[in-house]
Amino acid sequence: MKIHKLGLLSLFLYPAFNASAQSKVPRPKLVVGIVADQMRWDYLYRYYDRYGSGGLKKLMAEGYNCQNTMISYLPSFTAPGHTGIYTGSVPALHGIAGNDWIDNRTGKEWYCTEDTTVKSVGGGAAGLMSPANMLASTITDELRLATNFRAKTIGISLKDRGAILPAGHMATAAYWYDNETGNFITSTYYMQALPEWVTQFNSRSLNDSLMQTDWNTLYPINTYHQSIADNNPYEGKAKGESAPVFPHRTSAMMKDKGAIRSTPFGNTLTRMMAEACINAEQLGMDEETDFLALSFSSTDYIGHQYAPNSIEVEDTYLRFDKEIEQLLNFLDKKIGKDNYVIFLTADHGGAHNASFLSDNGLPAKAVTINLVNAELNRFLAKEFGDTAIVRSLMNYQVFLDENIIAAHHLDRSRIRHEIMQWFRTQQGVTYVIDMEDIGQNPLPSLLKDMTVNGYYAHRSGSIQIILDPAWYSGHATTGTTHGSWNPYDTHIPLLWYGWHIRKGATFKTTYMTDIAATLAALLHIQAPNASIGTVINEIVQ
Ligand code: ZN
Ligand code: ZN
Ligand code: ZN
Repeated sequence: MKIHKLGLLSLFLYPAFNASAQSKVPRPKLVVGIVADQMRWDYLYRYYDRYGSGGLKKLMAEGYNCQNTMISYLPSFTAPGHTGIYTGSVPALHGIAGNDWIDNRTGKEWYCTEDTTVKSVGGGAAGLMSPANMLASTITDELRLATNFRAKTIGISLKDRGAILPAGHMATAAYWYDNETGNFITSTYYMQALPEWVTQFNSRSLNDSLMQTDWNTLYPINTYHQSIADNNPYEGKAKGESAPVFPHRTSAMMKDKGAIRSTPFGNTLTRMMAEACINAEQLGMDEETDFLALSFSSTDYIGHQYAPNSIEVEDTYLRFDKEIEQLLNFLDKKIGKDNYVIFLTADHGGAHNASFLSDNGLPAKAVTINLVNAELNRFLAKEFGDTAIVRSLMNYQVFLDENIIAAHHLDRSRIRHEIMQWFRTQQGVTYVIDMEDIGQNPLPSLLKDMTVNGYYAHRSGSIQIILDPAWYSGHATTGTTHGSWNPYDTHIPLLWYGWHIRKGATFKTTYMTDIAATLAALLHIQAPNASIGTVINEIVQ
């Protein structure tokens, strides 16, 4: 009965798709996924007045705007975010439980995309990467499967995880930026040598030419009304700078090839690489739908360093808007206005700087998690004798050193009980959640759902800590971070634009996990194998 109803509904939603009238499945020529790393939803409006008419405002005015798109799991970090967007799933199912985690079975610490079985292609150690740790298929994988591998799927980002996870297991390619060489590189997971066009792109030394001109504000600095003073105590300083102020002397930083990441020029480089890729790989230029997964990382690095109330972040988004405008113009010319579909979203948001908030009266604090870890271990050592029982507090979770506990025959359940009791006495802790017995925790259902969705037993800590609303774990009093359940970290933009996309907006709650399901419907392909998303059918014309 349900299947029958869905069948009728899809006929209604896709009047253009009539098997007898159409000789082929209607699909766009190209899908472009855009992740703006750390882009809070409110940045669409915070800086709206000064966006141009051809960038973000165009996506909003001519496309479909899902105004209330939420992340439904913890922790809200980059790797789970990109994986969530492309698998339509959550860490509990796709296994990307953080940017880093400890495998509780072996005690080995993992980085999300590390893979020592592959070799770097074009660079150094930064190339030992693949999607092997991701347990689920992506929408890009499903497109490859649905077209018997004729569709090309390519991921591009400065961050390895921003390129690799979206591009999927069966990707044509994924390219990321190498700080050692200043090149876009890949790994033998994908190919044995860089294609000629990537080598050529790298040989243009765009890093240097982009950094040569110092980073100054796009407009007169006294017109940046969304930000506090340029020189303020909440901003981190760039290497070699004595104050966090414009102009940022990028020309003096460019010997360090990684410095471009924390400037808006990193986004320019990413956009140029995307255009070079479309040209060389002829994406969207034949019968088969191709998929380009882009992630703009500089928004995140800059956000971490300067925090949301800085002129640096404001300027970065005004410039990001220009990159989007250029990309749209390029796509219109190359692929044709109605032949491609774009979605723009974020992997997570970001908090306001805690000292800035508390100086302005809001209860907030940045806690240094390593100090907390050391203090907790000293407390446990008094009773259990060993000084390193808690291995890490990463991802707001307690990772026990299971090897020490087993080797010394320590009472694991008593240790866990003591840890939970200890945290309950600490300032700034709202909840201490026993992930091995979630039913025992009196919790608002939202928090319960998010923690359960984020818990993959082999790769998650067995106790989850929820801090007070504006508290976060950070290693500096400057800048900011993300990772929590709160709206500033989990309310993300979601814009759709182009082929078969309706003009409009909704305030209905949608989820990051709905993106892949909606793409699957739009492309008439199978949803990823761990997808828990729902099709946002309002977006379809
Ligand atoms: Zn991120
Ligand atoms: Zn500044
Ligand atoms: Zn970040």
